Amino acid sequence: TVNPRLHADQIAYVLNHADDRYVFTDTTFVPILERVADRLTGVRGYIILAPASAMPPTSLPNVMCYETLLAEQPAQIDWPVLDENSASSLCYTSGTTGAPKGALYSHRSTVLHAFSGCMAEMMSSRPERERALMPIVPMFHVNAWGFPYCAPMLGAKLVLPGPAHDSASLYELLEGERVTAAGAVPVIWLQLLAYLEEHNKELGALGSLRVGGSAAPQSLIEAYERRGIEVIHGWGMTETSPVGTTGSLKWTHRNGPERLAYQSKAGRCVFGVDMKIVDEAGNTLPDDGTSQGELYVRGPWVASAYYDNPDATAISFTPDGWFRTGDIATLDGDGYLAITDRSKDLIKSGGEWISSIDLENAAVGHPEVAEAAAIGIEHPRWAERPLLIVVRRNGSTIGREELMAYLEGKVAKWWLPDEIEFVVELPHTATGKVSKKTLREQYAAFRFAQPGV
Ligand code: AMP
Repeated sequence: TVNPRLHADQIAYVLNHADDRYVFTDTTFVPILERVADRLTGVRGYIILAPASAMPPTSLPNVMCYETLLAEQPAQIDWPVLDENSASSLCYTSGTTGAPKGALYSHRSTVLHAFSGCMAEMMSSRPERERALMPIVPMFHVNAWGFPYCAPMLGAKLVLPGPAHDSASLYELLEGERVTAAGAVPVIWLQLLAYLEEHNKELGALGSLRVGGSAAPQSLIEAYERRGIEVIHGWGMTETSPVGTTGSLKWTHRNGPERLAYQSKAGRCVFGVDMKIVDEAGNTLPDDGTSQGELYVRGPWVASAYYDNPDATAISFTPDGWFRTGDIATLDGDGYLAITDRSKDLIKSGGEWISSIDLENAAVGHPEVAEAAAIGIEHPRWAERPLLIVVRRNGSTIGREELMAYLEGKVAKWWLPDEIEFVVELPHTATGKVSKKTLREQYAAFRFAQPGV
C-alpha cells in the first residue's frame, strides 16, 4: 500500500523501495501517479480499479483495466499452497521523520493478528444485530487496522467509506449500512460528535467504536457512552500490525468508580503481545503505573526488522527480539498501558517532562474546544515551556483567560501552558494525527512575550 497524501518524492521512494512491479489504483490517484511515473524504475504496469466504461484518459504507460482483467479469468481457482511465513503485504510508516520505513507482514502474522481482532469484536459488540464493520481508516494506514481481514473471518459485512471522510457522509453510511463497529483516529470521532450535536442526530446501530492512532480524550469517551456507544481505546503502530493493546477492562474496573480513568488509558496487551517499560540505560522499570520510560514490545505480529533498511533496524530493534517503539509510557500492575508522548514530543520544562497528550486531552474536555495541540517552545529559564494551540468549536468565542481557568486544577500547575494560540485548523498527517512536526516548524520563531519565572 502507499499513502497517496505523502509528498511526491516520498510516494516515489515507497514504490521504488518496495520494488513494486504493478500498481493497482483508483481513478482518483491517477494524476498523482502520472506525476511520479517516470521515476518508478521497476513498475511494469498500472491496473486501474474501474470498469472499462470508466477508464480515464492517462499518460501512464502500460495501463490495464481491473474489471477487464478479472472478466478474462476463470471464476474458480485452485488456491495456491503458500508458506505461511512468506510476505503478504507491506505498509510504510508515515515518515514524519526521515524516509518512510517499511513493515513487511507475513500471511502468518496477518492471520494471527486478525484472530486477535475478532476476539475483541466477539467480546464487545452487541449480538442482536447483524455485524457490520467499517474501518474509517485507509488501507495504507496499517491495512485499515485489520478490519478487512476480521470482517470475513467473522462472517460480517464490510463497509468501506471511500475518500469521503466528512461527518455528514460518514453519518449517512454508518446509519444507512447499520454499521455495528467502526474504527477511526480521534479527530474523526471528535468531528462526528460535533456533527451529531449540531444536527441533533443519534447513531442508531453503532454498538462500539474503536479509537486509536492518537490518544482519545476522556471527554470523547464519555460523550459517545452517553449515546449508548461503547468506546474501545487501543494502541498500535505500523510495526505492530497494528493492534498491541485493546481497551478491554477488567471486571473490577468495568464496574468501579474509576472506570473512565481506566478506559482513557491505552488498553491492555492483547494475548500474544508482550510489553515492558525501559529507562534510558536499558533497565526494565516496574509496572507501577508511574515509572515512565520507552515502551518496548514483541509478539507474533510485531515486526522484527524494517524492510530492507539495516540502519533503521539497528536503531529500533534490540538483539534479543524487542521493538523499541519510541513511545514514552507507563504500565500498571493490571497491565494497562498509558502513553505519555512520542519521545520527541515530550515538553521538557526545567528538567521535568510535561506530557503534551495529557495537556491536549484536558483542553479538549472543554465543550467549546474542538481540537488542541501542545508543543514545547524555547524558554530562557526552563529550557522549554508549553504553548497550547487550540481550534474552537463552531460559533465559540472562548478566549485565553477562560480556557486557562478551566485547565487550572485539571493538570499540575507547572504544566499550564505559558500561552494559548487560537487557530482555524491544525495541520494533520495523512493518517489524521496532528502533525507536531509541521506545528514545530510553524512556531519555530515563536517566543513567549513575557517568559514567566
Ligand atoms: P502509526 O504507525 O502511524 O499507526 O503511528 C503509531 C503511533 O501512534 C504510536 O507510536 C503512538 O505514538 C501513536 N498512538 C497510537 N495509538 C495511540 C493511543 N491510543 N494513544 C496515544 N498514542 C497512540
